[in-house]
Amino acid sequence: MSESRAFCPRCGDAVPERSASDANGPLRPGAEVELCDACYFEDFDFVDAPERIDVRVCARCGAVYRGNRWVDVGAEDYTDIAIEEVSKALGVHVDVEDVAWQIDPEQVDQNTIRMHCFFTGVVRGTPVEEQVTAPVKIARQTCTRCGRIAGDYYASIVQIRAEDRTPTSEETDRATEIANEIVADMEATGDRNAFVTEVGETDDGLNIKVSTNKIGKKISNKMLEEFGGTVNDAETLVTEDEDGNEVYRVTFAVRLPPYTPGDVIALADDDGGPVLVRSARGNLKGIRVTTGERYEASYEEGNSPDARKLGELEDAAEATVVTVEDENAVQVLDPETFQAKTVSRPDYFDPDAETVPVLKSRAGLHILPDETDD
Ligand SMILES: [Zn+2]
Ligand SMILES: [Zn+2]
Repeated sequence: MSESRAFCPRCGDAVPERSASDANGPLRPGAEVELCDACYFEDFDFVDAPERIDVRVCARCGAVYRGNRWVDVGAEDYTDIAIEEVSKALGVHVDVEDVAWQIDPEQVDQNTIRMHCFFTGVVRGTPVEEQVTAPVKIARQTCTRCGRIAGDYYASIVQIRAEDRTPTSEETDRATEIANEIVADMEATGDRNAFVTEVGETDDGLNIKVSTNKIGKKISNKMLEEFGGTVNDAETLVTEDEDGNEVYRVTFAVRLPPYTPGDVIALADDDGGPVLVRSARGNLKGIRVTTGERYEASYEEGNSPDARKLGELEDAAEATVVTVEDENAVQVLDPETFQAKTVSRPDYFDPDAETVPVLKSRAGLHILPDETDD
C-alpha cells in the first residue's frame, strides 16, 4: 500500500492522512495526529453559551455596563441590547466554517429575554447545526453619569455677569447655547463625563453648573471670544474623592463689557458727540452719531471708557426729514413734539430719505444709521 497511514490517538482506528489541499481538515499547528471523525464529533461542541447572560443597563440613558465601565451603545431598546450582548457572549468552535446564525428573542418578562439561537456550519465536510437558548437578564440600574446628574453633581460654575449692568437676554441665551454645544461636542467624542447640571438665573446674571472644570473653562473662553470682557477663576476645595484626592470646584466669573453693540453712549470729557457702539471686544469701537466718524477707545480705557449710556439703536424712532440744510446739518421733525429741529448730519445720512431713525436722549436728537433689514 503506497498510501501512508495514521492512527487515531484515542481509538486506534486508521485515519486517512489529510493532504494540504484538503480544506476540511488541515492539521492545526501543534496538533500531532488528528482524531478520527467519530472521536472528533464525540467531543465536538459547536456553540459555547453561558447559562445566563446578565446585562446591566442604565434605566435613564440606556448605557450598558461592559468590562468595568458604562458605555453608550445607541441601542433602540432592550431587545437590541440583549442581542448584542448575546452575540458577544456566545462562542463558536474555531474549526467550523460557513457559520450562519439567527436569533429569535422571546420576551419572558420585563427583565428577561430568552434568546433562541440557531447555528449552522460545516466542519470536516459535515454540516452541523445547533440550537441554544440563552436567557438574558436585564438589570436596570443608574449609570455613574446619570447618578451624578440626578445628584446635582457639578465641578465648576460659570457665572455670567456684566460690568455696571445685567447681561442681556441675548448674552445669557448664547451662554446657555454655548454650554450645550460644548457638552454635545464632548459627548460626540465618547466623553461620558460631560454634562450641564443646571442653568440658573440670578438677579445679576446667569449661573451655569457643569460637570468638569474643563467645560467651565471652555464656556468662559468662548463667551469672551464672542462678547469681550474678562474672566477670573477661583478654586475652592470642596471635598475628597473616594481615593482621598482633593476635589476642587472652580468658579469662572465672566464679566462682560459695560456696553454692548447697539448702545449709544456719551463719553465723559469729550465733545465729539455720542458714540454708537459697534464692538466691545478689546477696545470699545464705534461711530460718532454726529459725523459718522470712527471712534476707538484708548488701550487704557479698554472696553470701559468713562461714559454713560443714552439709549440703544432699538430705541430709535422714525423722524420726517424736513430739509437738508448743508453738509453738516439736517432739519427733522422731533418725533415727540413734531417741531422742526436742526440736527447734525452724519456721513451715513441718505439725502434722499424721507424719514430717518433718530434717538432722542439727554444729549439731544441724533440721527442713527438705518439698519432695518428691508
Ligand atoms: Zn477515534
Ligand atoms: Zn445613564
